[in-house]
Amino acid sequence: MKFLEFAELCARLEKISGRLETISVLSQTIASLSKEDLPDFCRLIQGRPFPEWSGKKLGVGPNLLYEAVAYVTGRRREDVIDRLSRVGDAGAAVEELLSQKSQTSFFTVELTLADIMAGLVEISGMEGGRSQREKIRVIQRLLSSASPLEGHYITAILLEDFRIGVGDGNLRDAIAQAFTVDPKLVEYANQVRNDMGEVSVLALSGEEALRSVRLVPFHPVRMMLARQGTISGVLGEGVRVAVEYKYDGARFQFHKQNGTCRMYSRRLEEVTSAMPDVVALLDGALPDDVIVDGEVIAVQDGRPMPFQMVLRRFRRKHNVAQAADAITMVPNLFDILYYNQEMLIDRPFIERREILTKVSSRYVTPQLVSGKEEEIEDYYHDALDAGHEGVMLKLLDSRYTPGVRGKDWVKIKPEADTLDLVVTGAEWGEGKRAQVFGSFLLSVRSNGRLVPISRVATGFSDEQLNWLFQTLQDDIIRKDGKMVYFEPRLVFEIGYSEIQKSPNYEGGYALRFPRFIEVREDKDIKEANTAEDVEERYILAHRPVNN
Ligand code: AMP
Repeated sequence: MKFLEFAELCARLEKISGRLETISVLSQTIASLSKEDLPDFCRLIQGRPFPEWSGKKLGVGPNLLYEAVAYVTGRRREDVIDRLSRVGDAGAAVEELLSQKSQTSFFTVELTLADIMAGLVEISGMEGGRSQREKIRVIQRLLSSASPLEGHYITAILLEDFRIGVGDGNLRDAIAQAFTVDPKLVEYANQVRNDMGEVSVLALSGEEALRSVRLVPFHPVRMMLARQGTISGVLGEGVRVAVEYKYDGARFQFHKQNGTCRMYSRRLEEVTSAMPDVVALLDGALPDDVIVDGEVIAVQDGRPMPFQMVLRRFRRKHNVAQAADAITMVPNLFDILYYNQEMLIDRPFIERREILTKVSSRYVTPQLVSGKEEEIEDYYHDALDAGHEGVMLKLLDSRYTPGVRGKDWVKIKPEADTLDLVVTGAEWGEGKRAQVFGSFLLSVRSNGRLVPISRVATGFSDEQLNWLFQTLQDDIIRKDGKMVYFEPRLVFEIGYSEIQKSPNYEGGYALRFPRFIEVREDKDIKEANTAEDVEERYILAHRPVNN
């Protein structure tokens, strides 16, 4: 496929708002692709060149891009930044700049989708001191052969700022339509393989190929997630559920095969070398050829410590051994996905649990199986008294559904009064904060866009403000007076006292007394709260008392 065709398709898709039309346009293209282009197309159309589980990253920030664009267009870096801040969208700005370029060396080479992928693979493999310069060189090469429209989407891919809105659901249906297979099977295969690229090729072979996908060690799958709920809401007539403590730590998936162990975070990043103590504990407790799911917590004097302690360890690259000595990390295992060549995710939870308790000599989460509300409530209070976050209720016959936040797992915890919000801007501070950002603009997700809902200026330590100032420098895409705007990347957990209706923010709601709690480095911006979540909480809080 020519990359120009891909770029034209993206431009077309951006203008389509209807789901059915998006699926139909996509499926026609997918059906026409060669087997070689098919997987790359399915990954790039979601703006994700590499499968999530692969751990490959581009690591291209706006500053690298500015430099490459300045070189290719023969402008000063400042002019490029200025144009970007006026246009707002980096892709559109690069398109404009390239179309004004007067050099004649344009379009000497016709780019293909495979050329772009090869460039991205090259970039992702660059590490170390010289990598920045080398990355710039590859970007320059790609952009100097690109037409303005191609430049637009190359930029969007490089910055991981792809806004054409082809979600997993639309792509799943388009693949199913293109190869006349059941969309449920496409979804199933994607849960297991966690890569629409690979799944598209299986779909091309037919339903049997999709059905026979298998989990394998060292190819992590997304974690199964939980919904918020109430005990009485889950317990229907005669329903019994498994009740477990909800540990407030960090989620992990642990894989072991042929004596090799690897541990992955909730975002599927490998954390093996940051957690040697936990890896050693699990290695000792588990047999070979296994994939388990759990939560690791930090413990001191028998009590759990705040989850930030665990996340700090996950991020750690240096002095790991010293950090490991300072705090005790304890893994808690609550699920098993694979054992001894067998994929277990389709077995009912109760069976998986039985296998887990047989397979693991230690660390299996205690469990109560009950259908009695009072008994579960007592268990919930025991959990809170012991310093845990609450309890999880799990349906006994449920499958393990990777990446799904369904009704099979329900979390019960004290009234939530925090939101996970995306940091989209900041304002310079005043007084003793004049050298750093003093407040941050926060947004919720709303139909593929980010909509501001609040500003936060309290709850930060000086150390945190300094760190945020440093880490956000490379994300600045626009400056406007005292405000700067960021390429969205960070998620803040924000406490508040109340949600109010407000004409001051586009979404119609604002937070009263917002307070910074923590940077949720374990969460991607796609996991931030949505405008619907906010509305739902507002409605819940304002419902009539007797209803
Ligand atoms: P939340 O992050 O509030 O959506 O809650 C779901 C998270 O709770 C999961 O992703 C796990 O990290 C964590 N968790 C703690 N204990 C358990 C448990 N027993 N079973 C499942 N998840 C748990």
